Amino acid sequence: MTGEYDRPRAARGGVRLHLNENTAGCSPAVLRALRSVTERDAAFYPDYDEAYAAVARAFDVPEDQIVLTNGLDEGILTATAAAFRDRGNGVPEGLGVFPAFDMYEVCTEALGGRMVMLPLGPDYSYPWNALGSGVNERTRIVYVTNPHNPTGHALALDDIVALSRAITPVMLFVDEAYADFTGETLLARETFAELPNIVVGRTFAKAHGLAGVRVGALFGHPETLAPIRRIVLPYTLNIFATVALPVALADREYRDWYAAQVIESKRMLREACARLGFGVSRSAANFVLVNVGDHARWLVEALAARQVFVRDRSSDPGCAGCIRMTTGLVSDTERLVAAMEEAWCGAPR
Ligand SMILES: *Cc1c(COP(=O)(O)O)cnc(C)c1O
Repeated sequence: MTGEYDRPRAARGGVRLHLNENTAGCSPAVLRALRSVTERDAAFYPDYDEAYAAVARAFDVPEDQIVLTNGLDEGILTATAAAFRDRGNGVPEGLGVFPAFDMYEVCTEALGGRMVMLPLGPDYSYPWNALGSGVNERTRIVYVTNPHNPTGHALALDDIVALSRAITPVMLFVDEAYADFTGETLLARETFAELPNIVVGRTFAKAHGLAGVRVGALFGHPETLAPIRRIVLPYTLNIFATVALPVALADREYRDWYAAQVIESKRMLREACARLGFGVSRSAANFVLVNVGDHARWLVEALAARQVFVRDRSSDPGCAGCIRMTTGLVSDTERLVAAMEEAWCGAPR
């Protein structure tokens, strides 16, 4: 890691299975709403009332416990910035696991902090006790991801709650970027009055297909969110995000249809991997981590040559041999499986 996020590339027109996007695109209703934006809408600063009301309704959370952000990446950045405002004990630290989503480390370092990372345990299990005891007087924020990225593993909500109690008052950032694919969320179970040090992050980039529109949300106790609210820029969501979000949240039918595609794609990919002798993580999300053994980098390139783009994770610590593959539209997964089977026949032995 160089401290700067390295944007993975893919040629245009290929099958993009490297960034866990919604490979079907946003809902048709969202596209209609985006097209309805007028000259004046573009000219005026957006009003966020409808977007906040829609999120409050969809998650059954009061508006004062919500901050909308320009993607969850901005949520991670601003929550970290808020946590780092207390510089009492020298260089502030973020604590997390590896392998994990890159942005925790990127944001921690960008804001002048130091990232401390503990390895996942056997079978990629979360090191709950080590995380709890890894907090020291410099730790300002602890990051967990549920379901985890890149493994797709679902965490037990009880373990998250226990960690938050153990590390109070240090902020626990619970990244629920893929929770739409499991339906399991702290938001449905816990109240922030009980757990004031938790900030839950959600994105509409993955299940809702709004990665290009950029919109995410943070949830937490109003007092925990107050310093974050001051850091998030007043017009951080543009007009398209503002218009798209309520429509996307309302179109449950589209989301359910896509979630069913993801489940079928995971089944197909697991079967194909079993035929090819690859290991597959048990994922609750819209991607799986596939362990192909010795030729991960070679296979990623062989797939790219066939216009199928997947994410090489094999050089991540603890991920030797691993490739992360998005499981989206069934037709995309069919192309992935066909390309994998064809390519693997020619693998160096
Ligand atoms: C994709 C992803 C995000 C970022 O979401 P954006 O809304 O696109 O910024 C955050 N956390 C995790 C774990 C992700 O995989």
